[in-house]
Amino acid sequence: MGLELKKEAINAAVSNLQLRTKAFINGKSVNSVSGETFATVNPANGKTFAEIASCDEKDVELAVKAARKSFESGCWSKMPPAERKKIIFKFCDLMEEHEAELALLDCLDAGKPIFDCVTIDAPETIECIRWHAEAGDKLLDTISPTGSSNLSLIVREPMGVVGIIVPWNFPAQMTAWKIGPALATGNSIILKPAKLTSLSAILMAELAAEAGIPDGVFNVLPGPGSTVGKALGMHMNVNMVAFTGSTEVGRTLLGYSSQSNLKRIILELGGKSPQVVMADADLDITAENAVSAAFWNMGENCSCGSRLIVHKSVKDELVKKMVKILKTWPVGDPLDPDTRFGPMVEEPHMEKVLSYIEAGKAEGAELVMGGNRVLEETGGYFIEPTIFDECNNKMKIAAEEIFGPVLSVIPFETEEEAVAIANDTEYGLASSLYTRNVNAAHRIARAIRAGTVSVNCFSEGDMGAPFGGFKESGFFGRDKSIYAHYQYTEMKAIWMNLED
Ligand code: NAP
Ligand code: MG
Repeated sequence: MGLELKKEAINAAVSNLQLRTKAFINGKSVNSVSGETFATVNPANGKTFAEIASCDEKDVELAVKAARKSFESGCWSKMPPAERKKIIFKFCDLMEEHEAELALLDCLDAGKPIFDCVTIDAPETIECIRWHAEAGDKLLDTISPTGSSNLSLIVREPMGVVGIIVPWNFPAQMTAWKIGPALATGNSIILKPAKLTSLSAILMAELAAEAGIPDGVFNVLPGPGSTVGKALGMHMNVNMVAFTGSTEVGRTLLGYSSQSNLKRIILELGGKSPQVVMADADLDITAENAVSAAFWNMGENCSCGSRLIVHKSVKDELVKKMVKILKTWPVGDPLDPDTRFGPMVEEPHMEKVLSYIEAGKAEGAELVMGGNRVLEETGGYFIEPTIFDECNNKMKIAAEEIFGPVLSVIPFETEEEAVAIANDTEYGLASSLYTRNVNAAHRIARAIRAGTVSVNCFSEGDMGAPFGGFKESGFFGRDKSIYAHYQYTEMKAIWMNLED
């Protein structure tokens, strides 16, 4: 059941919330082997609201054993896909029954506005898992052409035991992007949520078990990346790790793979996404979308459009329109249904973002809006939406991923210059382009080196559109779409001699 976006309904749901805080191994909620826990904090007030089982290498051992056993037994991996689909649909139905809880957990844990959690995160999480379940029994294997004395089958099989490591910015949704295709294709999974936001992942595993996903197929190990994540990456009996997070940790995972069993690693990483605005763009449409691109989810968004590359002739007017829109985005308590802008996820991250704002000022960028910590009296980690004008790509704020509400505005004069600035980055995750000229739209969309180019909007497309990065924004990874689905399978050739 969804959550009504009214204060009374939200407050009632918070007081009825029963937090699930244990690890989930082999179909059971368990304490960590060490018995250790860690605190999870609500970033809107700085207060601890739950203690969560803190796993380490010993728990990884237990989970890998359980996952391997379930995989080899065939209880899930060899189940007819249409049967798997029924069970995953049941899992989705249960998530729908618990949709209010799913939305609230990410709101409390990550400081995301409840409005976003209710209208986007929770429903899209469920939709994604359903989409992959639906695909599971629709995809055909192939037969390659041979003479009549041979048969050449090309089949896809699940990878085996799959480690899944996710970040904190869209806790349930990033989890869904991975577990949806991994489960639908018959793998057994071990999910490590980000320490800052473990609660929705634990709920999902418990509901999956209730739906009938067999023991050992879906395990969750809350705990630090440096122990749980590393142990998964280094494990000789894990066949694949699917990761979303920073480029730095992604690089480390490739190292773990090379030092262990050459497990498949797929990476969805950071970004410094350009929004290119041509002189002929519709500035009202652009302003609405450019504000969302840069500031939705407080800029804690891998596809955050943090560089506004705008034609000199329309720059001032566009920035003025954006400031006007941003003034209608209330900053405040994420549990308030009117709030569009919550806190940073934790204090150290807030400090990091503030240090970028200081760097922007020191480098001579022109502060147009924001730039401060606000609502300090709440104990929360709030920063105002911040716009710097007159930036260039050499400035730290325009070159590095800030992962916060800081937009760099960079003027240009020619199309060639705009494309060069857009591509002058080691990242290549997402981008947007605004123009009314269809020829320019095609030309520039092809010229931008990024996994997604959205034209006259800020969008990653629907579930059918793949999402992932060029350059240092990714490594073979595509989430969503049928391409994500295939990633969790191995391709096998079966060559048969039919001669008597
Ligand atoms: P992060 O620091 O890289 O953490 C991501 C996950 O990796 C967390 O679960 C973390 O565990 C774990 N981890 C840390 N060290 C590890 C290690 N040595 N071995 C294995 N796992 C390890 O990233 P973040 O700060 O959570 O998220 C922000 C980043 O994610 C940004 O760069 C953003 O652009 C990127 N992102 C990308 C996408 C995409 O689709 N491309 C989507 C969302 C976010 P802890 O619990 O200890 O933190
Ligand atoms: Mg938290």
